[in-house]
Amino acid sequence: MIKLVNVNMNFRGKQTLKDINLTIEPGEIMVIIGPSGSGKSTLLRLIIGLLKPTSGEVWVNGREITGIAEDELNKIRLEMGMVFQYSALFDSMSVGENVAFGLRQHTSMAEEEIARTVRRKLRMVGLRGQENTMPNELSGGMKKRVSLARAIAINPHIVLYDEPTAGLDPIMSNTIDRLIVSTRRMIDSTSVVVTHDMHSAFAIADRIAMIYDGSIIETGTPAMIKQSENPIVAKFIRGAAT
Ligand code: ADP
Ligand code: MG
Repeated sequence: MIKLVNVNMNFRGKQTLKDINLTIEPGEIMVIIGPSGSGKSTLLRLIIGLLKPTSGEVWVNGREITGIAEDELNKIRLEMGMVFQYSALFDSMSVGENVAFGLRQHTSMAEEEIARTVRRKLRMVGLRGQENTMPNELSGGMKKRVSLARAIAINPHIVLYDEPTAGLDPIMSNTIDRLIVSTRRMIDSTSVVVTHDMHSAFAIADRIAMIYDGSIIETGTPAMIKQSENPIVAKFIRGAAT
């Protein structure tokens, strides 16, 4: 579903991602862990085509996206939804309009169908009937859920999450974790979740990849990661979990 082959990313000569090789299978929840500044968000932006790698290949759904034209890339982006770290809602639009945004931009759905879809997605994230609420009336956790409803409005094959539980209390983090798992089931999607919340990582991952200083230093099931003999991995898991 997603494959990165020998990907390098430099910013102004600084090597931010180094020779990344990663394959994410259809339907999988892949969790990317690693310290702040290790390159996790950059990795997501490469997958969604917001950045082009300095070298290497990025494959999404059977297509290599680094060399393709912008209109082709836009079509592929329609297969992806992203939940950004700071929710990134449009503050001047109601919750319903935020969720409807992509449907209006990219589909020819009639108004009634848009309204029905928005209603269904808000129900999925536990925000039934909140169509007319404005973002500034919402808590951080509710914003995150609107952001998720917006990301999945067009039933993307791939959902990318950047630090979805950052800044949330444990109960809300747990709610978001369960939504990530139930979203995968409901829209049959492949998910990539960037986090440094170890509790969340182990709760939802099929596989975990740890990135450190721009390199993937370990990939495996949660059980394998827990038993990793790589001292950096072991230390990170212990440190970040407390
Ligand atoms: P993480 O998400 O793991 O915290 P990032 O992917 O955001 O890490 O950043 C990794 C490194 O790349 C950081 O040193 C950051 O400063 C740098 N970086 C990220 N984006 C840019 C950019 N657009 N221009 C220059 N440097 C960047
Ligand atoms: Mg980041």
